[in-house]
Amino acid sequence: MVIKNFSSKPRAAFFDFACCEGCQLTVLQLDDRLLELMAHVEIIEWRQVMSGRGDKYDIAFCEGGVVRNEDVDRIRSIRDRTDILAALGSCASIACHNSLRNEWNVEYAIKHVYGENAGDFDLIPVRPISEVVEVDYQATGCPVSLKEFVTVFEHILTGKIYRPPNDPVCRECKQNDYVCVYEKGRICLGPVTRCGCGAACVAHGDACHGCRGLVDDANTDAVFKALEPKSRHTIMEQMVRKNRLTETDLMKKLSIYDPPKKPENGKE
Ligand code: SF4
Ligand code: SF4
Ligand code: SF4
Repeated sequence: MVIKNFSSKPRAAFFDFACCEGCQLTVLQLDDRLLELMAHVEIIEWRQVMSGRGDKYDIAFCEGGVVRNEDVDRIRSIRDRTDILAALGSCASIACHNSLRNEWNVEYAIKHVYGENAGDFDLIPVRPISEVVEVDYQATGCPVSLKEFVTVFEHILTGKIYRPPNDPVCRECKQNDYVCVYEKGRICLGPVTRCGCGAACVAHGDACHGCRGLVDDANTDAVFKALEPKSRHTIMEQMVRKNRLTETDLMKKLSIYDPPKKPENGKE
């Protein structure tokens, strides 16, 4: 991990790889706070907001995932030209929705989506940026947690190490006195998901879908066990029957943000 004390205004840039670019759009929603932060850096490249380009950077925020061979070359080139590289959002940090493609064999997926134009695409199994180059900082979430982005930005500017929180979302839920959605017969991935969002989805009446990725050493076996027919809460059992959910449906909920571990073995 690179930590740097800047003697002059650092040159910063934002880059996007395969993704919906929602994390950059979210950062732009910081409005006045963003202007305050940006006053401490010189933005020299950010495709969504300006046309300028640079060759060398002090800080590079990178959003999105690596899905083509040319992405590998590009992120390595950015890594070579920046002192600090920060992964922006869950696509860059944990692969996120992009990794759903890894469930299938790459050749099958290309042909299925692009048909006769499949040859135009040089796709490889999806990986987050953090699996291709060394990442010094990361702010996760889909979209990125603005609170965490600001914290990461401040840590970079002040030369401090940032360690993402490693407690489950349940902690923030309990701190805010939210009613647990399991009590309403819903599946929630909060017990194994890294906190830092303030249990945002539960606060708005939804369950946690795991967008910030798993905590270190997450006990996913315990979550699976809690979903087994013999272990299911009575209310959840009713919900499963009412919505005709299968065991596969339940397990799929756990794999939206957590990439399959062996993409090369994807099915056809
Ligand atoms: S993490 Fe989510 S919001 Fe951000 S770029 Fe990826 S899909 Fe879009
Ligand atoms: S709603 Fe989800 S995050 Fe909150 S306490 Fe229940 S299981 Fe945990
Ligand atoms: S509650 Fe879960 S899904 Fe919602 S923002 Fe937080 S980590 Fe993401």
